[in-house]
Amino acid sequence: MPAAALSHWRDFRNIVLFTGAGLSAECGVPTYRGAGGIWREYNYQDYACQRAFDRDPVQVLDFHELRRTKVLSCAPHAGHAHIRAMQAEHPGIHVITQNIDGLLQRAGVVVVAELHGSLWRLRCPVHGIRDDLAVGAYAHRHCPDCPPDRAPWLRPDITWFEDAVNEAVFEHAAMLVDDAELFVGIGTSGAVWPAAGFAERARQRGARMVEINPENNEASALYGQHIRLPASTALPEAFPIGG
Ligand code: NAD
Repeated sequence: MPAAALSHWRDFRNIVLFTGAGLSAECGVPTYRGAGGIWREYNYQDYACQRAFDRDPVQVLDFHELRRTKVLSCAPHAGHAHIRAMQAEHPGIHVITQNIDGLLQRAGVVVVAELHGSLWRLRCPVHGIRDDLAVGAYAHRHCPDCPPDRAPWLRPDITWFEDAVNEAVFEHAAMLVDDAELFVGIGTSGAVWPAAGFAERARQRGARMVEINPENNEASALYGQHIRLPASTALPEAFPIGG
């Protein structure tokens, strides 16, 4: 059995898997920070804040279509598939993600909280959330349910820079974190707040804390066990299935 294995993981009643951009990195989706990080290439002030959208919705929607197209060219990896297999074995596995790419869902994982929204949803100021799963290009850029002569632009349902977080989603996630006996941080730098606060919250509530990340970061000290491997290798090693 590998040194990192928690062979008794099924004994924890409630388990939170808290995932970040590093979980998708091996699929080819750029992370936020570090080499190849997306905000090194693009200035968020032009593409990912409400001010940019108000100024130039076409540019912002074009950028998000590009991200959708990029994500569609990537496939979930063995780590995503392993999380799905863990959920099939244990009903108390709650996946809370900071990712907006939908790769977990594409792998068949049930995600209870998308803290920062999704590339695959849009928002009408009148009609609210609309799924837009079609392809890279949006099915509609203006709300099809509003009168055509004054249909507003649909906005990506993503928490952009300078946005407030979705409080209902965060409250639900907080409830699950408070009940967690095991908290596993996977591929997150712990630098984006308030999401980063969930690790500290779990630790204070006495959860067993495990970090999966090839690199040390400012949040690592919150965790009692560190698995310094990529997520695709670490997950099957740490949480053996069957037997
Ligand atoms: P981050 O980019 O700040 O940090 C990524 C972390 O993943 C780093 O600590 C890195 O060492 C680690 N990592 C890299 N490769 C890994 C691997 N193979 N296995 C495990 N870990 C690996 O990511 P964050 O903490 O999630 O914060 C970024 C924010 O930006 C999030 O809030 C998210 O909403 C957004 N974002 C999302 C995506 C996405 O949906 N895929 C991509 C970029 C940014």
